[in-house]
Amino acid sequence: MVLREVGASLNKAVRRFLGLPLPDEKAVNEFIKDVQRILIKADVNVELVYNLTSKIKEKSLKAEVPIGFSRRDVAVKTLYEELINLLGEKQRKLPIRSGRINTLLFVGIEGSGKTTVVAKLARILDKQYGKVGVISTDTIRPAANIQLEQMLPENIPVYFDPKKNPVEIAIDGIKRYKSEGYNIILIDTAGRHRNEKDLINEMIELERTIKPDIVVLVVDATIGQAAYAQAKAFSESTNVGAVIVTKLDSTAKGGGALSAVAATGAPIVYVTSGESLDDIEEFDPQRFVSRLLGMGDIEELVKRMEEASVEITPEDIRKIASGKFTLLDFKNQIDQLGKLGPLSKLMELIPGFSVNLPSEFGYQAQDKMKKWGVILKSMTKEELENPELIKRTRIVRIAKGSGVTVRDVKELLKAYHTMKKTLSSMGRRDMRKLMKRLGMKGM
Ligand code: GDP
Ligand code: MG
Repeated sequence: MVLREVGASLNKAVRRFLGLPLPDEKAVNEFIKDVQRILIKADVNVELVYNLTSKIKEKSLKAEVPIGFSRRDVAVKTLYEELINLLGEKQRKLPIRSGRINTLLFVGIEGSGKTTVVAKLARILDKQYGKVGVISTDTIRPAANIQLEQMLPENIPVYFDPKKNPVEIAIDGIKRYKSEGYNIILIDTAGRHRNEKDLINEMIELERTIKPDIVVLVVDATIGQAAYAQAKAFSESTNVGAVIVTKLDSTAKGGGALSAVAATGAPIVYVTSGESLDDIEEFDPQRFVSRLLGMGDIEELVKRMEEASVEITPEDIRKIASGKFTLLDFKNQIDQLGKLGPLSKLMELIPGFSVNLPSEFGYQAQDKMKKWGVILKSMTKEELENPELIKRTRIVRIAKGSGVTVRDVKELLKAYHTMKKTLSSMGRRDMRKLMKRLGMKGM
């Protein structure tokens, strides 16, 4: 099972959860069990998993739920956010400075994918900055420099000298590239040692003598949460400025490795998932989680919840109930959101009050809302507060002023009147029901 399948099972758990015919609390508990099982199987540290799921529980069962959403929506949103959190929250970039020479030293144990990463990255950086030179200090693996040359395009040279030791090779290579006007120098290392301690000692020695701008640690994802100890060991001895996690294509433990590295605070800048030169990408936790869960819908849900949570206040509802819903209120709705979705959603919440509003009030009517926003801007304050004043001549003026047809203006007015009528036909009882449902005190 590879990482992709972990995503698929999370996705399945989310869908099941949202469709489960159980009361919220029970469904949340089942969902949490599912998520725990999946993440632990992906080798995410148990404590991290526990923290994540207790946040889901806490937020979905205790916190206030925004209008128009369920506790389950909150749970799914929390899962999404906490997974991002688990992976380091924000996207971190490789700190290359243009206009000067950048030396990057690649460290990591043998077989972690350093040489492959150096080749992949050389190609990317060459496209971005130009003039990239590579140095192979691997005097142990036979023909390590040839391995690099074969992967690299012709314009990217590899410096190597079998007669020298790794430190000498690095120093001479840097000197050569500097004198030839190179921008970026990538230094590959061997990483083959009897034990991790010898390896780290050599890295310390290399770092001390060549003083690289960035030490890049390469970690093999197949080691799962053991990546924590590895990243920590390297970070404590050398100044690790970036981490690249490799082989996400060949393990189910990718989530474990990524979260473990993130937990050490070291920034993951790239991940790789294949042997070919193209199989490398910048690591963006947010994008990664969206793709892992395989749902654009989840982002949509999060966005809608954020919009809705700032949306309707008790004051708005009182206004609606009192029948004083002016074009100005209508305009405010559109200005705030570019749509009237939350308002129509609000009305859907009232039992027996199935919505008779024109379809323009739906979430999809973005273009129309934009147009209406422009029309409303052409109206005077007086008109907005007293829409009944808007008669034929004013309609013509407004249409001209906003560059639309008279029909467009009429359509907007009709929609407003329909909405107002619908709103004012809501009895006080409906209102009270609604307030109760929203957890607001009476009017
Ligand atoms: P090094 O010893 O750290 O220099 O590691 P190498 O770059 O030589 O890679 C070790 C092995 O892992 C090679 O067979 C690579 O082709 C393979 N490898 C590297 N990166 C990836 C990856 O992202 N996915 C897969 N499936 N294999 C990889
Ligand atoms: Mg190598």
